[in-house]
Parts: sequence; structure tokens; C-alpha cells
Amino acid sequence: ERLNNDFQFIEVGRQDPKKKLLRRRKKDFVEIYEPFKPQQASEQAHRCLACGNPYCEWKCPVHNFIPNWLKLVSEGNILAAAELSHQTNTLPEVCGRVCPQDRLCEGACTLNSGFGAVTIGSVEKYITDTAFAMGWRPDMSKVKPTGKRVAVIGAGPAGLGCADILVRNGVAPVVYDRNPEIGGLLTFGIPEFKLEKTVLSHRREVFTGMGIEFRLNTEIGRDVSIEQLLAEYDAVFMGMGTYTYMKGGFPGEDLPGVHDALDFLVANVNRNLGFEKSPEDFIDMKGKKVVVLGGGDTAMDCNRTSIRQGAGSVTCAYRRDAANMPGSRKEVKNAKEEGVKFLFNRQPIAIVGDGRVEGVKVVETRLGAPDARGRRSPEPIPGSEQILPADAVVIAFGFRPSPAPWFEGQGVATDGQGRVVAPAEGQFKFQTGNPKIFAGGDMVRGSDLVVTAIHEGRTAAEGILDYLGV
Ligand code: FAD
Ligand code: SF4
Repeated sequence: ERLNNDFQFIEVGRQDPKKKLLRRRKKDFVEIYEPFKPQQASEQAHRCLACGNPYCEWKCPVHNFIPNWLKLVSEGNILAAAELSHQTNTLPEVCGRVCPQDRLCEGACTLNSGFGAVTIGSVEKYITDTAFAMGWRPDMSKVKPTGKRVAVIGAGPAGLGCADILVRNGVAPVVYDRNPEIGGLLTFGIPEFKLEKTVLSHRREVFTGMGIEFRLNTEIGRDVSIEQLLAEYDAVFMGMGTYTYMKGGFPGEDLPGVHDALDFLVANVNRNLGFEKSPEDFIDMKGKKVVVLGGGDTAMDCNRTSIRQGAGSVTCAYRRDAANMPGSRKEVKNAKEEGVKFLFNRQPIAIVGDGRVEGVKVVETRLGAPDARGRRSPEPIPGSEQILPADAVVIAFGFRPSPAPWFEGQGVATDGQGRVVAPAEGQFKFQTGNPKIFAGGDMVRGSDLVVTAIHEGRTAAEGILDYLGV
């Protein structure tokens, strides 16, 4: 009877998975959401109206078959839902956890008009977690080997997306990464309270079972040359991300006690995962007055990592207002709940201190006219300067591309911002200036999202398959 109820969305409200107790949550490096119970997942999935033209599917960068797998979950058919969700997404359990759903699929749900969007992300996570626990693995029985081999540089979401499509089409991918674990920023960036690291180590086992080979702790350009890869493989895919820090360009950025966001996050992950080389690498915020500068996902992760390390106080200063923050709304709310204090419309103009950081000088801003991209630029209000006291400052202004020295010699072109030129359209999608080299993810589009990197990696694999004629 429940399954035939077309008005489920009225009787059953949107319900997110329960969060763990705040006082525990603020100390632990574990995911903050409890998993859905089967009954709850089915009830929430059944709220979907199955719109004729599902906006959620269009807004999702990989165009997941959302209403179709929601229906399967509402019927309790998890294995079929897992099979279907893997047709469009390489890492559905990861996207379910870290996508900014409020800006993507859930933001486009028709039920936002007064009823509350379907909990698409949490159901997506539930499908794969449950299917894996039931022993489900992708069905590779119909794959016919082509004898072709492709080298993938980078085991982040772009590289994994590419390898997934290649192996499902009988092309053997060998994935190289300089890190000791797969995932790229999923492992060495995004903290455990959003994404526990066992998710990636389990995925590595699943991918290996599918026929993807990983060569970790191997840096291309140092341990193995690009020339070797080009000689040994039929094609090369690059999904190497963006790793050049954006600087504020104000005085005091080099004072002791001022840290780059990723250095801080990676040191924390390395300690938690046992990859720490020396205890001096760890950046400890215990008892400190921490000021985090920035308003994106990276800034939120630094805020919440500082809280969990036992910081005395954590203040996040952002130069625009709350409505113009680039990060996921959900994560800003979580940060506030955990005790982060937000100061909006504050632009840093200097970091001050005698021999080490003692404070951040900020000026108040108001939003001016929209720029070329439609974002309103902050304008400083003269005379509104103040100093925020700080023992530690984390700079989270984002990342720019980091072109490799060998690009030029191999005919790989970059644009004015250092992004690799690899057009999404054309005879072979995501092909670079060198016909044998393809690229996708952050290094092509600039720092963006996990799901857009997956999408580009998967689409580039189609370009490679066309190029190889398989
Ligand atoms: P990456 O994930 O950076 O992977 C690139 C890989 O290539 C790395 O493993 C690197 O070691 C490897 N590599 C590079 N050069 C070489 C070489 N020469 N040899 C061998 N290996 C090499 N996005 C979201 O959607 N939601 C979030 O909540 C979110 N939070 C974020 C939090 C932080 C702190 C950061 C920094 C980013 C966050 N993002 C988030 C963005 C997201 O992580 C990235 O957009 C995404 O990981 C990009 O994928 P990628 O595969 O292009 O690159
Ligand atoms: Fe939503 Fe991201 Fe899943 Fe697409 S991949 S359905 S945007 S959570």
C-alpha cells in the first residue's frame, strides 16, 4: 500500500540522516552522519514525484538516473539500484557524501517548493554502501579485452573516472599516483568527518578486482618519465589536479604560524592514517586562537579540523557575505553547530606579529557592482580596520593549476591561467595538443568539484576509446 502512495511527499517530510552527538562529533575524525536505516531510505526515496522531465538529473553533472534508482530503493531493490547508479557514476558513495547537493541535484528538486527536496545524496550513498555490504561487485563478465593499455596519471576522481570507463570497455588502465593511497584530494584533502578513508581503501580493492592496476608512490616526471609512458602505452590520461596555492598578496603571509590550507589538512590526515614521516610535519591547533581566511569548502574543512584538534577558538573571516559564500551551505551549517565563529564582509589586509603571527588585520567590506562573471566584488570601507587576535592563521584562498615542466616538450598546451587545453568537444573529447595525451578534472577546468572531475575523466575515456578505435 505504501508503494502506491503518490502523496508520500506530503505524509513523510524530508528527513536527513541523523547526525552524531555534537559533543562527540567535535572531537572525532569520523563521519558525522549516521547511515540511513533500510525503512528510512525506502520512505525517503518514495517521496520522489518521478517528474516527467527530472531537473535533478539535468543539474547532476554526471546525469545520474535519479528517479529510477530512487524507485528501486523504495521497492527495496538495492542491487539493481547499485548496478544502475554505477552506469553513470564511478564513485556514487563518495558523491553522496561530498557533493554540494543544495546547489546541484537537490537544489533542482521540484519538492523544494514548500515540501523539502528528496534526500538524493544520502540515498545515493546508502545504495552503494548497502550493496557493497551485501557483497555486490560491478558485473564485468561481459567485458572483452581489446589488448590495449592506457596509463592514467593521478588516482583522483578524474583519473578514477577515466580508468573505470576504460576497464569496462576492455582497455587495461594502469593508474600512477605519487601518493601512497588512491583518491587524490578525496584522501589527502577532504577530512574524515565528511568522508572516511576506508571508503577509498575499499574502492581500491573493488577497482583492483575489476582489473585496474595501481602503481602508487610513483611520480611521473621523477620516478617514471612521460617518454616512458608514451612509449609503453597506447594513450595517456592526465588527471593531476591543481596544487599551486593562491596567495593573498598582503604583508605577513610568511610569518611563522601562518599555514597553507592543504599543508594543514594533509598533515592531519597523514597522522590519522599513519603516513606521517616526522612528528614535526603535524600542525597542532590545540588550545590556539585560530583564524581561517576564506569561504569555500577548503576553509570549512580547516575550520572543523581545528575544532577537532581542540583549538581554543576558531574564527572564519570571509570577504563577502553569507549568501555569497562559494562552499556548500550544509557544511557552513555544520561548522557553525560545531562552534566556528563567522565574520562576514571582512577582507584581510595584513598578518601582523613580532617574529610570529599575533593577529590578522582586516577591513570591513560592502558588496559592489557585479563583475564579468556576475559575482559582486567586495569593496573595502575606509576606516573600518580591526585586528583579529590569532596564534595561528590558515589561508584557504584556493588553488591554481600547476603545469608540469614536460608539458611544453610534449605539445601539451595551457591557457593564460595554466589550465591544460583539452576541449570537451571535438573529434576526440578531452584530447590535448599531443594526440596521444588526454586530460580532465581540475587541471583542465580549474579547481572545482569531485563530481565534475569524475564526469570529465569518464568523458575523456570515451575520447580515448574513439581514438584507439575500440
Ligand atoms: P585531484 O583530486 O587533485 O587528484 C590528482 C591526483 O594526481 C593526486 O592524487 C596527485 O597526487 C596526482 N598527481 C599529480 N601529479 C602527479 C604526478 N606527476 N605523478 C603522479 N601523480 C600525480 N569537492 C567537492 O565536490 N566537495 C567537497 O566537499 C570538496 N571539498 C574539498 C576540500 C578540500 C580541502 C579541497 C582541497 C578540495 C575539495 N573539493 C571538494 C574539490 C575536489 O576535491 C576536487 O575538485 C577534485 O578532487 C579534483 O579531482 P582531480 O582528479 O582533478 O584532482
Ligand atoms: Fe547529486 Fe552529486 Fe549524486 Fe549527482 S552525483 S545525484 S549531484 S549527489
